[in-house]
Amino acid sequence: MPPSPSFPLPQGVDRILFDAETIARRVGELGAAITGDFLGKPLTVVAILQGGALFMADLIRRIHLPLQIQSISVASYHGGTTSSGTVTFLQNGLPDVSGRHVLLVDDVLDTGRTLHAIRHRLASECLPLSISLAVLLSKRIDRPVPIEAQYVGFEIDGEFVVGYGLDYAGDYRNLPFVGTLSPSILP
Ligand code: 5GP
Ligand code: MG
Repeated sequence: MPPSPSFPLPQGVDRILFDAETIARRVGELGAAITGDFLGKPLTVVAILQGGALFMADLIRRIHLPLQIQSISVASYHGGTTSSGTVTFLQNGLPDVSGRHVLLVDDVLDTGRTLHAIRHRLASECLPLSISLAVLLSKRIDRPVPIEAQYVGFEIDGEFVVGYGLDYAGDYRNLPFVGTLSPSILP
């Protein structure tokens, strides 16, 4: 159940942007579109950890096709609220996706550097048939790298958001909604 307007928000969160019901509805629409687009194709859905884990878990249950799942673990924020500009791969090796269509799933497209770097490594090292991107959120900003997601849940402004996989210093990932943080707790 999404919190009602009188539900006390967790400390530090000042506004709900997308409640659980709204997210579930949109994830269902994305799942239906993906189902149509990948019918009859070998599909591997790759979550970008940690943030993409919740979105992937919900999304794959709305994709009515045989598929496989994998994950890639990266760090790009290093604890703050602005992208550090460097993408660190936190695992040795990459998933085996050769001969398969890949759908990369992440929480939010911000500068795009993370998905750009991952897509580049997968394309050059893993021989997938294709790589598509699905993000729950896409920020309306000028991106420093050429990148576009084929499946976008919601467009948002450049603000920093938490919940539904998105963290601030490791916290808030388990909130069932996406919200903004009170300016008082931000650095
Ligand atoms: P990008 O490389 O596109 O700048 O950043 C992508 C990653 O940065 C996302 O996967 C996410 O982990 C993190 N990120 C970007 N914007 C936000 C935000 O508003 N809130 C949180 N919690 N993480 C974000
Ligand atoms: Mg992330």
